[in-house]
Amino acid sequence: MRLKGECVKESSILIIEDESAIADVLTYALVSEGYAVRHSTLGYEGLELLRSGNYALVIMDIGLPDMNGFDVCRKARNFTDIPILFLSSRSDEVDRVVGLEIGADDYVTKPFSPREVVARVRVILRRGMPSKGVKSTQWFSIDFESARIHYCGSLLDLTRYEYLLLKVLLKHPGRIYSRDQLMDLVWCDALETSDRTVDTHIKTLRAKLKTVRNGLEPIVTHRGMGYSVTNGKEA
Ligand code: CA
Repeated sequence: MRLKGECVKESSILIIEDESAIADVLTYALVSEGYAVRHSTLGYEGLELLRSGNYALVIMDIGLPDMNGFDVCRKARNFTDIPILFLSSRSDEVDRVVGLEIGADDYVTKPFSPREVVARVRVILRRGMPSKGVKSTQWFSIDFESARIHYCGSLLDLTRYEYLLLKVLLKHPGRIYSRDQLMDLVWCDALETSDRTVDTHIKTLRAKLKTVRNGLEPIVTHRGMGYSVTNGKEA
């Protein structure tokens, strides 16, 4: 594990990768662009480092010695919204799709050019830095630090799972999430769930949104597929 460069959260990158040749090439490329880099070879250790909250982005290998990178990502999503860029050594679509469905932000396939990775990092960080942990869409504004969501200017009074559900949907407006995906992303730590859990919460969420603004339907049902939050364009 090494620490290079000055440790400023906004430009600190955590690399979780067990192949030191790859980590070295990435570290070199990132440090030359002004980023501070910390490298961990284990998923478990990476998660511990993430809990410190000192990083702006994670670059994560999928095949790690102690844990699968997807499991690291799932566990990390319980406590952080940090952008995650996956390094995939398999070019098949399954890895790609699954990687993004579990809450990753982007992926690159090995072998990659370090310059490409640095460019992706820059794009993700720029995208994810609107204004101090607040993300706004046409109708919603979500403050990740205080776990509050405003809708059409009104603060929503949400239960924990309603908040987490809406947060997942708002992460990628327009993207359809199946019930299974939502169960996995939102209720992964829940002790009791049922087949109707997702639908029930969608229903109560819709009712709360309706009391703020009647006539808008920001949560879209895709028959046989799942739910999305409209990105506003089709409204
Ligand atoms: Ca590996």
